[in-house]
Amino acid sequence: MVYDTENIFSKILKGEIPCNKVYEDEFALAFHDINPQAPVHTLVIPKGEYVSMAEFSVGAPDELLTGFFRAIGETARVLGLDEDGYRLIANTGKNAHQDVPHLHFHILSGKPLGPMLSNF
Ligand code: AMP
Repeated sequence: MVYDTENIFSKILKGEIPCNKVYEDEFALAFHDINPQAPVHTLVIPKGEYVSMAEFSVGAPDELLTGFFRAIGETARVLGLDEDGYRLIANTGKNAHQDVPHLHFHILSGKPLGPMLSNF
């Protein structure tokens, strides 16, 4: 899929629109979700033009793959979630209802979240 440089997360990365930042390094940016689905709901996005996990896992250089996954773990640590735990979700494509076409991992926590999928 062609990467849309006008997507909302691309604009956040470029500093064109603000975000409520949690963590940033050379590989990733993490910020609070604007419409939280749990007491803690943070998004982590890689600094690169990847629509989804499908593209990132094949196309990203090793340094970015490694750095991005470290940044997800670091973001959870910064949020103080290691002890009580958290859920990671990366919606990819239409079956997963991915809305924003820039790869992102959701970090969800702040209370017991219940079963993973309730309506299977
Ligand atoms: P997904 O359905 O996995 O693509 O999730 C996209 C997420 O981005 C949703 O949880 C939205 O609430 C969130 N979102 C959309 N726009 C913004 C924004 N400007 N700042 C923070 N989060 C956003």
